[in-house]
Amino acid sequence: MQFRDLKYQYEVLKTDIDKALIGAAAANAYIMGPQVKELEEQLAAYVGVKHCLSCANGTDALTLALKVWGLGPGDAVFVPDFTFFSTAEVVSLEGATPVFVDVDKATFNIDACDLEKTIRATIADGRLRPKAIIAVDLFGLPADYTAIGRTAKQYGLWLLEDGAQGFGGAINGKRNGSFGDISTTSFFPAKPLGCYGDGGAIFTDNDEWAALIASLRVHGKGSFKYDNVRIGMNSRLDTMQAAVLQVKLKAFADYELEAVNEVAKKYGEQLAGTVKTPIVPRNFYSSWAQYTIQLDNREQRDHLQVALKEAGIPSMIYYPTPMHAQTAYRNLHYPADSCPSALQLCDTVLSLPMHPYLKTTDINLVCDAIKSNV
Ligand SMILES: *Cc1c(COP(=O)(O)O)cnc(C)c1O
Repeated sequence: MQFRDLKYQYEVLKTDIDKALIGAAAANAYIMGPQVKELEEQLAAYVGVKHCLSCANGTDALTLALKVWGLGPGDAVFVPDFTFFSTAEVVSLEGATPVFVDVDKATFNIDACDLEKTIRATIADGRLRPKAIIAVDLFGLPADYTAIGRTAKQYGLWLLEDGAQGFGGAINGKRNGSFGDISTTSFFPAKPLGCYGDGGAIFTDNDEWAALIASLRVHGKGSFKYDNVRIGMNSRLDTMQAAVLQVKLKAFADYELEAVNEVAKKYGEQLAGTVKTPIVPRNFYSSWAQYTIQLDNREQRDHLQVALKEAGIPSMIYYPTPMHAQTAYRNLHYPADSCPSALQLCDTVLSLPMHPYLKTTDINLVCDAIKSNV
């Protein structure tokens, strides 16, 4: 059994993907070929925003957003303590300071109450200027954007949606990628919509920022590539990756997103009462980048992971360490017991095999193995 069966997906889509790849190779427009612009238009339409700009990966997408806002030393950016490292890393890379916020154990996403508390504490402390919030759509589930948006407005902060795991998720039909002042996603192969290498995209309704990002991703170009008007990056999506993504986006929108939600439903029905299964709040829709259960404690979780492995079932711990306890952030001197919910999750979470092509027989196997080992 595969944790995320990309090989099987390729077999299903092989005819179209091979045609797209060979077509891109033969057309000889490897950088910024026509597929890139087409894909950006398709993605913007799917997400429901005015502008989509593709780039080299999801980390660069976040970096480009922070560069648009000119964040730097002395600026505080509020980041969930339970996420992939990139979310905080990009803040530090710009010279700004990530300020870690605890998460809601039920949704794994940034806790709106703790966010407000942390903003107030940062203002009271006075050493950093609060500038932005990065909310993450962890495991595919949108963050609580009603509450977060209100807080962002109240304190005059930019809202950046890190939708690296969230492509396809929605609240009341409004899709992930449309909730931030700027939103981003990643096309890393294992994400809900993945390419065959690295890739990412930025979404915004703001014309001025979109133009700035278009410049920043090509060495700060002005009227043409060798007219450089600002310091930028080399961060473009390859034509070949765009070609693959055009095929994959169609499958994603046609049936994969629905199929992965069916898998989640089956897991939920079979595992209810045995372990804590992930919840999806009313009117929320997840793209299920991960299906993550919670055990009672670390011993039970670690025992289950070993038992699953012995039964040939792969599982992953996303994530074993909260941001505030990462070695790279020792310099920020967070007390060890900061963000207690994030700490607890790191000890109790386990992500199960999850993808749109997971067979019912495999779902049953996973569930039976869990039931006989907790
Ligand atoms: C994967 C991921 C990123 C980074 O995306 P890359 O394309 O790997 O650079 C950022 N944030 C979160 C939450 C992610 O899961």
